[in-house]
Amino acid sequence: MIVPRKELSFWERMYLPTIWSGFKVTARHFVGKKVTMQYPEEKWTVPPGYRGAPYLVKDQEGRTKCVSCQLCEFVCPPKAIRITPPGPAAVAETGNVEKGPKEFDINMLRCIFCGYCQEVCPEEAIFLKQDYSLTGTNRKEMIFNKEKLLALGGTHQDGIQKWKNK
Ligand code: SF4
Ligand code: SF4
Repeated sequence: MIVPRKELSFWERMYLPTIWSGFKVTARHFVGKKVTMQYPEEKWTVPPGYRGAPYLVKDQEGRTKCVSCQLCEFVCPPKAIRITPPGPAAVAETGNVEKGPKEFDINMLRCIFCGYCQEVCPEEAIFLKQDYSLTGTNRKEMIFNKEKLLALGGTHQDGIQKWKNK
């Protein structure tokens, strides 16, 4: 079936009304509320339940909470976590915590932000923070080591002080 082409009216052939409509839209946005965000100087405020990147946290006294149980490494679906336990000759950082991880890496290029590591951790040592702006100039930079994860995670202010010295 051949659909006949619609004839343009006189005003449509002039194009001026259409151009004027475009100008009206531009003028409306020019004086209206600004919707462009100056990222990265300005950042989104994410909702409370947002699951961002997983970081390690310290306890209230600034000590590593992780005890290298490797549950998170085992449960992580894309195998983004690599933990090296300290070995049998480890020196306890404090009290009876002798198994702080020697190395703890998370490959943020693999992480799918599922939150399984946070759910499974018996020490509440790893949390999905609200950070969504993960950037790097190469793949190696996107593998976050223990020091970086602890620095980004900060101190966790919960009421439980499981390893507090007696
Ligand atoms: S959030 Fe999920 S994918 Fe990312 S490190 Fe934790 S368990 Fe692995
Ligand atoms: S972060 Fe938690 S689950 Fe993972 S090794 Fe440390 S204590 Fe175990």
